[in-house]
Amino acid sequence: MVDECPRCGWPQSEIYQVLSRHLTSTGVVTYTRCACGAVQMRLQPYDAGHVVTASEPRCGGS
Ligand SMILES: [Zn+2]
Repeated sequence: MVDECPRCGWPQSEIYQVLSRHLTSTGVVTYTRCACGAVQMRLQPYDAGHVVTASEPRCGGS
């Protein structure tokens, strides 16, 4: 999934400028500024890419 800036079409995968970065309990909040000047906030969870299962896996059965 590729997101682009609605104003100038700059791909959000390419960070133009990082304004600030904060560590929160859920992840890393990064404020970025686009080439057109639009400020965006993105949240990157700590467990990104890690698959969390809703139920514990069972071995065997019964
Ligand atoms: Zn832009």
